[in-house]
Amino acid sequence: MTERNVVLYPGLGVGHLVPMVELAKVFLQHGVAVTVALVETPSETLEFYAASNPAVTFHVLPPPPTPAHAGSGSDGKSAKPIVQMLKFLHSMNAPLRDFLLSLPSVDALIIDMFCGDALDVGAGLGLPVYSSFPSAASDLAVFLNLASMQDSISFGELSDSIIIPFPGVPPFKASELPPNILHDEEAFRCVLPMFGRIPESKGILVNTFDSLETRALSALRDGLCFPGRATPPIYCIGPLVFGGGGDKHDECLRWLDAQPDNSVVFLSFGSMGTFGKKQLEEIAIGLQKSEQRFLWVVRSPRVDENNLAEPLQVPDLDALLPAGFTEATSGRGLVVKSWAPQVDVLRHRATGAFVTHCGWNSTLEAITAGQPLLCWPLYAEQRMNNVFIVEEMKLGVAMDGYDEEIVKAEVVEAKVRWVMQSEGSEALRERAAALKDAAAEALDEGGTSRAAFVKFLHDLQTSNGMIGTYKIR
Ligand code: UDP
Repeated sequence: MTERNVVLYPGLGVGHLVPMVELAKVFLQHGVAVTVALVETPSETLEFYAASNPAVTFHVLPPPPTPAHAGSGSDGKSAKPIVQMLKFLHSMNAPLRDFLLSLPSVDALIIDMFCGDALDVGAGLGLPVYSSFPSAASDLAVFLNLASMQDSISFGELSDSIIIPFPGVPPFKASELPPNILHDEEAFRCVLPMFGRIPESKGILVNTFDSLETRALSALRDGLCFPGRATPPIYCIGPLVFGGGGDKHDECLRWLDAQPDNSVVFLSFGSMGTFGKKQLEEIAIGLQKSEQRFLWVVRSPRVDENNLAEPLQVPDLDALLPAGFTEATSGRGLVVKSWAPQVDVLRHRATGAFVTHCGWNSTLEAITAGQPLLCWPLYAEQRMNNVFIVEEMKLGVAMDGYDEEIVKAEVVEAKVRWVMQSEGSEALRERAAALKDAAAEALDEGGTSRAAFVKFLHDLQTSNGMIGTYKIR
């Protein structure tokens, strides 16, 4: 019998690559050969994930015939990064198609939420396409619902203070939606139709587990999120998180080895999170005054804080942090430049809480490590995740003032101390421990996520006729 083979297509960004690589490993465990098709030459970080997963085959697609990356808006001005990204991914359809045609056989194409235009490639080749949604099911519920409204709402109608009753999630103000949907008309017009394409796929693999998001999943499965249109099967196959287990001699881990159990608050803001110098100073003073042990990943500020695509310099800590801070916190605090082995840090016995930007990978990594969260959302869907984490999952508290220009040092001090030391935060720790167990159970033999993946493979087989005999013609 021909070997079964799927192609995974994560699009751009670490937060989208990480869960796709983990998904690749699940396919391999089930005896399905898999190739991760990458766009653009991988950066150092992408290479890191590739090198950490030698069993997974990666293929870097060649650039598109007509590069669209540095494209411009319809008005001749430079388009916003998200719009550029969607245009670029659209232009990658041709190289993706050529690559698929070069393979002897393929059973399915699995695409990221931003790669919806690749549905056309699948349709052209008669190849089944499934979506892989790398964020929360609650985000999916909101995005599908927004997409269903795209003809009835106009840009600007969603003013910040409006509360939109999205099915399956707690009510929240429009200001918690991804900023580009709210404040950028071109992005609004590009992103909503992209979300609207998700239901065109044959099924949606979501990196979550059933018991974490029961309300959102019921709304999705009951078809409440996209009225008038069938939602394809939803398979909750997570939490799929990076395995960690990297360099034991890493500076952070060696430093944590010398700290008492559950004593360190870890601050890390995803692969792209940055703060301006003033905010970094306020965080530093807050940490110093909190008298807690801390491990803090610091990045260089961006010139344009709204341009996540801007390449970052190595931070000059002496120039960015207040004079005397390093000496004053020596022994109980460690600042690392740009990147820490986050999964290993979260699982270290010395780590006791996580100040996070609420990226979904970070959230799942915290859940699987049993860490309570102090939420400081920054970009993309993170403000929504903050709502779900605090109100629905009861796994964290929000950093007061995250939606204002600056969070003051005294707020950082009080919140960090509360989450690390107060009796009130005991409930969070208990909840974190319970969710850690629930996540492990979902992935275990007989667990919901494992069963969902088996069901997905079965459905794929049924839709393909005979899995393994499918060929692109
Ligand atoms: N990450 C890391 N070290 C860092 C910062 C981030 O290993 O110092 C990893 C983190 O563990 C996660 C990913 O980068 O797997 C970030 O994904 P997430 O969805 O949390 O946020 P995004 O970067 O997409 O905003």
